[in-house]
Amino acid sequence: MKYFFRTSWIALLVSQCAFATIDREIELAITVDDLPSTSLEHTQTMTQAFHDHGVRGVYGFINGKRALNSVVADFSNAVLQHWVNSGHFLGNHTYSHSDLNSTDVAQYEQDIDANEPWLNFYSSNGQEFNFKYFRFPFLREGNTLKKRNAVREVLAKRGYSIAQVTVDFGDYLWSAPYKRCLKKKEIKSLEWLKKSYVDTAFKSLLGYAALAKAIFDRPIKHILLFHTSAINADATDLLIQKFKEAGVRFISLESALTDSAYTQNPNLPIGGGANFLDQMARARKVTYPKEPSIPAPPKKKLASICRD
Ligand SMILES: [Zn+2]
Repeated sequence: MKYFFRTSWIALLVSQCAFATIDREIELAITVDDLPSTSLEHTQTMTQAFHDHGVRGVYGFINGKRALNSVVADFSNAVLQHWVNSGHFLGNHTYSHSDLNSTDVAQYEQDIDANEPWLNFYSSNGQEFNFKYFRFPFLREGNTLKKRNAVREVLAKRGYSIAQVTVDFGDYLWSAPYKRCLKKKEIKSLEWLKKSYVDTAFKSLLGYAALAKAIFDRPIKHILLFHTSAINADATDLLIQKFKEAGVRFISLESALTDSAYTQNPNLPIGGGANFLDQMARARKVTYPKEPSIPAPPKKKLASICRD
């Protein structure tokens, strides 16, 4: 009996160690979409975590419509100002978060341009930065090849680089449950939500790192996507801590995009949102690695937690 306990304990320790570290350093750029979609307080919690861990120059992709002020031609917004004052940068995510599936190219072009007054304002007031990075809303790059190519031409003509994503994990699915549990002050549930959020993010990183190796036959520089909400804010410190302990090195978006992997164009019409690696896997018919695999979010528990 004693022997059984000892061996199973050792086995557990070994499996936990294997989970807690990665065999080779992963380089990762953090990016945050849909600014300014949450309160200044949440944004401050997030930037404080970046500051505490030395993560600098994080690109936040903005929709001007969310920042729209009742005063015409006034671009002031407390969240965006705080983001930039904290040493972070802003990129284009279209003015109204257009869905390319249901928008024609001319409208989409207009929506890219309509976002620029905010980007011009913040990149020329105080901290200067290059805002010519574009993140496709819903990660939808075109449901027809014609549309896809036309938007790529529009972006190239305006000097934009596409800010691809290689790691996403459905972070927005934790947002409503977390708000419910906050309202009910269910401490244990809040802790579970933060833990499952960070675990899912970490396993997704490992899964996508393995997929990248299967596609490119080498490690690539990764780009993580999450959003801003109460849980994104409250879990950022834990997330960065866990990633760091596992050997992740945080890099800038500019540095990540120097990886030659991003010169590849999957060149496929895709209706649903798909990150760069999911698109490349489909284009090259690459089988997803089984271990480590990309986890599914715990949707059932997220839907039921903190309900009456
Ligand atoms: Zn978005």
